[in-house]
Amino acid sequence: MTDLSQLNFDQSGLIPVVTQDARTGTVLMQAYADRAALERTLQTREATYYSRSRGEQWVKGQTSGHTQRVLSVQADCDGDSLLYRVEQTGPACHTGEYSCFCRPLLGEDAPGAAQPDTGLDGTLERVYATISERLATLPEGSYVARLHAGGLDRVLKKISEEAGEVLLAAKNADRAELSTEVADLLFHTLFAMAEVGVSPADVAAVLRGREGKSGLKGPKEVG
Ligand code: AMP
Ligand code: ZN
Ligand code: ZN
Ligand code: ZN
Repeated sequence: MTDLSQLNFDQSGLIPVVTQDARTGTVLMQAYADRAALERTLQTREATYYSRSRGEQWVKGQTSGHTQRVLSVQADCDGDSLLYRVEQTGPACHTGEYSCFCRPLLGEDAPGAAQPDTGLDGTLERVYATISERLATLPEGSYVARLHAGGLDRVLKKISEEAGEVLLAAKNADRAELSTEVADLLFHTLFAMAEVGVSPADVAAVLRGREGKSGLKGPKEVG
């Protein structure tokens, strides 16, 4: 465990803090802490910063209600910056964006940029992060916001309907249809996971735990 005397606060007594959504991995914001703000964060587990513009300690969400429950605090290798991993309530940015990092200059989120071919699991994580973001901000016109308003029971029913469609498409060996229906099933399953607070990492951990347990006769029967 690093103690605070090993941290390098700058001449103004501040240290930069990067704040990450612990469930999705999304980088939410970057701000500063002074020693008192860091100590308060460690004691209360409420993300606390130092506002350079206002010149005062700042408990995230004190006015907006968009608080951050801190799960871990890490210092970097040379102790001149911190990482808060948090459970974010609502949007992290005061503009209403889920993440402050919403102004692309270059890269995968920039308009017109080529998407890297990350395969299925990377895609699932990205879709899950998008669903979580929509649930946090509930933007008008969003399908996820509409699903949320309709209630979880409706979505759970939809999951069993989609499972039925997967079954039919597989039975008919219709590859295009099967791809579509599996995508529908996965999307609504990810929605239910996000509503309940289960992340793709939680599911991956279960799957990894089963790896190597299959024996020579093929995949282990589960369920
Ligand atoms: P809050 O801490 O969410 O109650 O917001 C209080 C004030 O802190 C806002 O009016 C902004 O001035 C500032 N603020 C909140 N969130 C951020 C952020 N992610 N980045 C920069 N400033 C912020
Ligand atoms: Zn550093
Ligand atoms: Zn912001
Ligand atoms: Zn379908």
